[in-house]
Amino acid sequence: MKNFIIFGPPGAGKGSQAVILSKKYNLKHISTGDILREEIKNRTKLGLKVKSLMDQGALVSDEIILEIIESVILSTKGFSGFLYDGFPRTVYQFKVLNEFLQKIGYKIDAVISLVVKEEILIKRMLRRAEIEGRADDADIEVVKNRIATYREQTEPLVEIFEKRGNFYPLEGDTTIEHSFNEICTIIDGLD
Ligand code: AMP
Repeated sequence: MKNFIIFGPPGAGKGSQAVILSKKYNLKHISTGDILREEIKNRTKLGLKVKSLMDQGALVSDEIILEIIESVILSTKGFSGFLYDGFPRTVYQFKVLNEFLQKIGYKIDAVISLVVKEEILIKRMLRRAEIEGRADDADIEVVKNRIATYREQTEPLVEIFEKRGNFYPLEGDTTIEHSFNEICTIIDGLD
């Protein structure tokens, strides 16, 4: 099983790429944000617990996220690998993911990072709010908080990825198709 991370700030286009990549390479698309939004929609205990944090643009606890990830990995069958979207978002999440994958005989094969300017991120999220109706995209203050949360808690991962290798930062200010072709070239070039 291959393991790929699609990395980048909110609004970078991770979800759009993850959908088409997972289809092309038969990967299980694991979007922690989508999983949590589904929990909120279904008014589960977990959904109630995470709603206010998500509404503010803050991160949900590592413990909750890691429990979700491990259970999805262990229960997935019939795919050639996993594509993590919106995860890991903290250094600790990455550390635990690595240890868990190692334990079950897998590793992270590549981290693909979409690099996008802040003003474009904000524009994209506000536009997405109109299309998808995501509450955390509609409020400019929440959007800014999500970007600040990314800078503080998630961006430190870049240095770790750079040291580790198999890290591919890409210009994400382009079209979905252009980024998709670039990512496919990277994946096809891996052994
Ligand atoms: P996303 O759809 O990936 O932008 O995630 C939406 C929200 O879900 C985030 O702003 C966080 O509140 C929460 N969330 C999603 N993934 C994670 C994660 N890996 N760690 C912590 N919180 C997360």
